Amino acid sequence: MTRPAPLWFDPAELFIGGTWLPAPATLPLENPSTGQTLGQIARGGAAEIDAAVTAAEAALAGDWGRLSAAERGRLLTRLGQLVAQRADDLAALEALDVGKPLRQAKADALALARYLEFYGGAADKIMGETIPYLPGYTVYTLREPHGVTGHIVPWNYPMQIIGRSVGAALAMGNACVLKPAEEACLTALAFARLADQAGLPAGALNVVPGLGEEAGAALSAHPGVQHLSFTGSVHVGALVQAAAARNVVPVTLELGGKSPQLVFQDADLDAALPFLVNAGIQNAGQTCSAASRILVHRSRYDEVVTRMAERYTALQVGPADADLDVGPLISARQKEIVEGFIARGTDLDRAATGRIVDQAPAGGYYVAPTLFAGAAPEHVLAQQEIFGPVQVVIPFDTDEQAVAIANGTDFGLVAAVWSSDGARQMRLAKRLRAGQVFLNNYGAGGGVELPFGGVGKSGHGREKGFEALYGFSVLKTVAAHHG
Ligand code: NAD
Repeated sequence: MTRPAPLWFDPAELFIGGTWLPAPATLPLENPSTGQTLGQIARGGAAEIDAAVTAAEAALAGDWGRLSAAERGRLLTRLGQLVAQRADDLAALEALDVGKPLRQAKADALALARYLEFYGGAADKIMGETIPYLPGYTVYTLREPHGVTGHIVPWNYPMQIIGRSVGAALAMGNACVLKPAEEACLTALAFARLADQAGLPAGALNVVPGLGEEAGAALSAHPGVQHLSFTGSVHVGALVQAAAARNVVPVTLELGGKSPQLVFQDADLDAALPFLVNAGIQNAGQTCSAASRILVHRSRYDEVVTRMAERYTALQVGPADADLDVGPLISARQKEIVEGFIARGTDLDRAATGRIVDQAPAGGYYVAPTLFAGAAPEHVLAQQEIFGPVQVVIPFDTDEQAVAIANGTDFGLVAAVWSSDGARQMRLAKRLRAGQVFLNNYGAGGGVELPFGGVGKSGHGREKGFEALYGFSVLKTVAAHHG
C-alpha cells in the first residue's frame, strides 16, 4: 500500500528510548472523510509499554534527568518552533487522520506550538518557598518531578492534548510515555519525530500507539508509572483511576461535558451568536467543552432560536481538505452514536439542520449539524454528552431556574454567561458548577494560560496554565535544624 501524500514517516513504528522500532502488530489507518483504509498504524501492547517505561526510567537516571530546568525549557522552546514551522504538515496529517477541516487542524498545530512555548518558558520559573518555623530551623519546599508519567490521549484534539499534558510534564522534568488514541495517532508520531529532531534526550518522550484495552490498560496499571494523565470518556477514566489506585498513583482525569451557555434578557446577541453556534459545531461537536446546551431567557428565546437556526442552515459539511465549517465524525461508530441521539429528539422542535455538500464522499462519516429547540432540562439530549454537532435550546424564566438547569447534569466542565449586568455575571460565576466560567465570551480563545478541568463526572485535576505544572510535580518539604 502506498503512503498517503501528507504522511512523511512510517506510522507502523513505535518510538521507545529514542529509537524507532517496528510495532509487533498493526491496526488500519482510516480516513474519516472517505471511510477508506489508507495504511497501517502501530499496535503496541503490554511489552512495548513496559519497554517504554524502562526507557523513561533510564532517561530520568541519565541525560534527561541531569538537565537543568533552563536547558529543559530551551529544548521545549526549540520543539515548539519546529512544530510551528511544520504546522501545515501537521494539519494535513490531522485532517487525514481525524477528518478535521484544515484550518481547525492548523489551529491545533499552532496551539501545540504555543503550549511548548509557554511550558518551555515556565520550566525554570517554578519555585518552592521558605516557611517561617521554630527558632533554629530553616524550612523550604522543592518542586520535583513525579518520575515516569503516563499520558492517555483521545482522538478529538490530539495535538492540543499532547501539548497541555506532555508539554507540562516534560517542563517539570518528568519522562513521558504517551499512548495516543487508536483512531488518531499520526500527529503523536510526528510530534515524536520533531522531539527527536529538537534534541530531546532518548527516553524523555516515548510514544506507543495501540488499543485502549491493550496498550492503554497496560500503561494505567504499570507499577513503574508515577502519575497518569487521562483525557477521554467517563467510563474509561474510571477504569484508569481504578488501575492507578492499585498502585496508589495520582491521576488527572479530563472527561466529558454538557456545557451550557446562559443567555439573559440583557445579552448582546450580536456578540453572543457566533459563540453560541461555533462552540457547538467546532470539530463536528466532538469537543469535551462543546456548548451543547443553550439556555435562554424566555423573553429572548424565539429570537435566539431563529438566529441560531439561520446560522445552522448556512453550515456546510464536507471532507477535511475542503475546509468547510464541519468535517466528518471520527468513525462509523461515532456517526451511529450521534445519529442515535438525533433519532431520540423526535419529540423536540428540530429548528434547523446544516447541509452535507454534494461532493462529500459517500463513505465518509458525515452528520448534518442539528439544532433542537424546546427541550426540557431533563430530556436525554439535554443530559447526555452526544459528542457530535447537536445542540439543544432550553428556555428559562428566572436566574434561579437558569442556575438550576445549568448545574443539573452529571458534568461540570465549562459554562458561559451572556448578560450586560455585571452583578449578575459575578453572582453566577460563583454559583455555576464548572471548572471554567466565561463572562460574555466562550473559551477565551482556548488560552493555554488558563487552568482547565472539570468537577463531577467531568473529572478532576487541572491541566493548562501554571496549575498543570503543580499537578505534574511533587512538593517536598525540607526542614533543617541548625540550632
Ligand atoms: P475513550 O475513553 O474511549 O478513549 C480515550 C483514550 O483512552 C484512547 O487513547 C483510548 O485508546 C484509551 N482507552 C480506551 N480504553 C482504555 C482502557 N481500558 N484503559 C486505558 N486506556 C483506554 O474516549 P474517546 O472516545 O477517545 O474520546 C471521547 C471522550 O473523551 C468524550 O467523552 C469526551 O468528552 C472526552 N474528552 C474530554 C476532554 C477533556 O479535556 N475533558 C478532551 C477530549 C475528549
